Amino acid sequence: MPSRVRKFASTIKRLTDIALPNQCALCGNLSQELLCEGCDAQYWNEPRLRCATCALPLGASDMRRERDDTRAHCAACLESPPAFNDTLALADYRAPLDTLAVELKFRARLAAGETFARNLHALFEDSDLPVPDVIVPVPLSRARIVARGYNQAWAIARPLARSMGVPSDASIVARVRHTSAQSRLDQDARRRNVASAFSISGDVRGKHVGVVDDVMTSGATLDALARMLKLAGARRVTNFVALRTPKD
Ligand SMILES: [Zn+2]
Ligand SMILES: [Zn+2]
Repeated sequence: MPSRVRKFASTIKRLTDIALPNQCALCGNLSQELLCEGCDAQYWNEPRLRCATCALPLGASDMRRERDDTRAHCAACLESPPAFNDTLALADYRAPLDTLAVELKFRARLAAGETFARNLHALFEDSDLPVPDVIVPVPLSRARIVARGYNQAWAIARPLARSMGVPSDASIVARVRHTSAQSRLDQDARRRNVASAFSISGDVRGKHVGVVDDVMTSGATLDALARMLKLAGARRVTNFVALRTPKD
């Protein structure tokens, strides 16, 4: 084989190695799935007590209970409850699972969205939460959709809704204002930043809406979105987030 052809063949081989999901995204072991069996068993569903409202991890000392609610809550949610009712989160936003969120968001590895969805569905089945009437993704602004080509929250929301047997709709909520990157702002600035960032165009009156996002940081974005949904008549809002930042 001439060396030029050989070189071409090895380039093709390298490209298919990258394109085919034959390596675990976390440890690099051979795997037909996104995660190998070992990583799948090790990293999901860690036993972690979380606030039922905002999914913040709770220690034994900062656990509070309402008299009429057997679920645990953080002090902040009891003092000033956010507009959403419940949040399910798979795990904390930290290594190594943060890799999956980065792969999904910046490298279009949509299989990560399906993996998040599968595990969120299992978490939901273990909860006592009622089934939402509709599932919506946290929307991106038009500018960001154009730049990225897809919405990573939709890549989780669609397979999640399918497995729950619930309709999903990416057109109910739109992001009307392009907000600055949340990570550069403090908590108060984040609240102001996301206020009135969303508009609701579908009929959500009397509905229980499931809102899906890849990462929940301060919760200000989800709070603002839930506020808009409630103003539009939604009865209940449950967040489904893949990864939760433990603290700001
Ligand atoms: Zn692995
Ligand atoms: Zn909370």
